[in-house]
Amino acid sequence: MEEKRFDLRTAQEAAGEKHYILTEEAKKDSKFGKLVFEFPQERNEVVAEGDPEDFVVKPQAYFRGASQIPGSEFNQSYQIFVKPFFLDRVQHRHAKDEFLVFLGASFPNVFDFDARIEFTLGKGEEAETYVITTPTIIRIPAGVYHCPLNFKEVNKPVLFLATLFTPMFGGIYDMPDGKTMEMYYNGPVQCKYNPQKKCDSCGKCLQEDWKK
Ligand SMILES: [Zn+2]
Repeated sequence: MEEKRFDLRTAQEAAGEKHYILTEEAKKDSKFGKLVFEFPQERNEVVAEGDPEDFVVKPQAYFRGASQIPGSEFNQSYQIFVKPFFLDRVQHRHAKDEFLVFLGASFPNVFDFDARIEFTLGKGEEAETYVITTPTIIRIPAGVYHCPLNFKEVNKPVLFLATLFTPMFGGIYDMPDGKTMEMYYNGPVQCKYNPQKKCDSCGKCLQEDWKK
């Protein structure tokens, strides 16, 4: 049987199509340019008072979701933790599923893992705390309470990815007065429409379409 191969270049050339590399300027007016996004370098700014800032390698990469690639239904973080850190103290839930990934960051072997991380799923009487000591992925179904998340021992760097299937990062929190509050956070980025302004997670840019 003949081996089937897909060779993009040959196919394009055979069709007599023009293919070329876009400049940043041309990308803005191109058909698919909004689907290609270069990660900005971010520096963690969410540290509780008195906590050390050097628990995570700087800079970090984050995919902030629909504000960066219009129409995206997920957001994701890419952080390398090098010191113990109590990352998330407050229980919350989300409108959609969240996945947490813990891998070794002594690249290239992601199974080179030496850390002890505690993570709680569920609330009150049904709460269960899991101790992560090997590469692990956890699914948090929509509506399920979770956290605290505590990186108790970090003897080797840990790659931590948090993926949430919503257009912007955020959570639903129970307040002491019995009410619930939705909080959103889109990172220390500029407003898409006003570069003088810091993003306040208003959500306006989430309505954009990737198509021109
Ligand atoms: Zn969460």
